[in-house]
Amino acid sequence: MTAWWCEHAWLPHGLAASVRVTADDGRTITSVEPGAAVRPGDEALPGVVLPGFADAHSHAFHRALRGRTQAGRGSFWTWRRAMYEVAERLDPDSYETLATATYAELALAGVTCVGEFHYLHHGPGGRSYDDPNAMAEALRRAARRAGVRLTLLDTCYLTGGIGTPLTGAQLRFGDGDAAGWASRVGLLRADEGTRLGAAIHSVRAVPVDQLTAVPTAFPGGPLHVHLSEQPAENAACLDAYGVTPTRLLHDHGALTPRTTAVHATHLTADDIALLGRARSYACFCPTTERDLADGIGPARSLADAGARLTLGSDQNAVADLLEEARALEMHERLASGERGRFEPAELVSALTVDGHESLGWPEAGRIAVGSFADFVAVRLDTVRTAGSAPGQALLAATAADVDTVVVGGRTVVTRGEHVLGDVGALLGRAIREVLE
Ligand SMILES: [Zn+2]
Repeated sequence: MTAWWCEHAWLPHGLAASVRVTADDGRTITSVEPGAAVRPGDEALPGVVLPGFADAHSHAFHRALRGRTQAGRGSFWTWRRAMYEVAERLDPDSYETLATATYAELALAGVTCVGEFHYLHHGPGGRSYDDPNAMAEALRRAARRAGVRLTLLDTCYLTGGIGTPLTGAQLRFGDGDAAGWASRVGLLRADEGTRLGAAIHSVRAVPVDQLTAVPTAFPGGPLHVHLSEQPAENAACLDAYGVTPTRLLHDHGALTPRTTAVHATHLTADDIALLGRARSYACFCPTTERDLADGIGPARSLADAGARLTLGSDQNAVADLLEEARALEMHERLASGERGRFEPAELVSALTVDGHESLGWPEAGRIAVGSFADFVAVRLDTVRTAGSAPGQALLAATAADVDTVVVGGRTVVTRGEHVLGDVGALLGRAIREVLE
């Protein structure tokens, strides 16, 4: 048996003090006892212990752009050109090296499960590798090395825009048509640390007559889609189809309780109602959305309509899920002129249980009997958090205050150090290998 003793722990009904948690098999929680004394042999976890964080939307390779594309004028569309230049340089080995370092950085921030929205499928010019899923397999190995779980959201990406063929780096994303995509992803297999889901890149990238094939590829599995990140996407969709992207997905069976709409920034009242009624998830990526000048999405309205909110690091220009959670609330304040738009418990749910459910891991995200022994200990004695009330530490702490991260009973981060060692050095080497 393994046992942990938490100074404070975030349990399903709220915060509790002096919580002892045990796992008979070392991996799955078998008891949770608040108000307990620490016993010899217990691993003591400092500060506030939260369930593991789910990063519900990541593109690992975008990490190579951090600090290189953030200055200067432009828009989402100029940033995208820089991103394609990185995409053109990657092969399965460099992709694995970069993703390993990126996932290790995310683990340092408390992430125990990454949802990787993966579309860089093929070699230069769109040539298939000997293993047509060589790039996906690189991600699987990267997550295993970094000690985190992975939901591989294999992304169907067929056109450069509505009615426009793929060109340049985009050729690496395509599978010809949805049937070609489905036959390739049919070769993928889940394993203990990896689950599979489907993704529609966007209504820009999957023609309407191909849309219905994607939700059926992984029955019961997650289905993710970039949705209305930019006004130009809405305008193109209205021009071509006469409806909004949300309505288009709804009309083609792609809005379901297992659907995650990523960004969901520029929505109509009808779109919000459709997403809410479908009980879909809306994944906000606030640090990316502000970096790319996307706008502020209607998070509170979506939650009020019945959608479940999750959080993602997206381009990984920031790898700090605590910052994503805080920004969800702070952007709401800026947009609404009101404070307290989300309770801390709602932000914790987005970070943990709802994020994990959206990635197909319902047994993760709670400190409760039967859940995975996943813990994130956030210190309350650092320069940022000293004096904070444990229940509000979420609004003060950053990734730098994450002390310990446990994934299925295995300690991946101790006193802010990842088991792989110097993650900054790993990132530096990985990015130099790609860019130089
Ligand atoms: Zn994205």
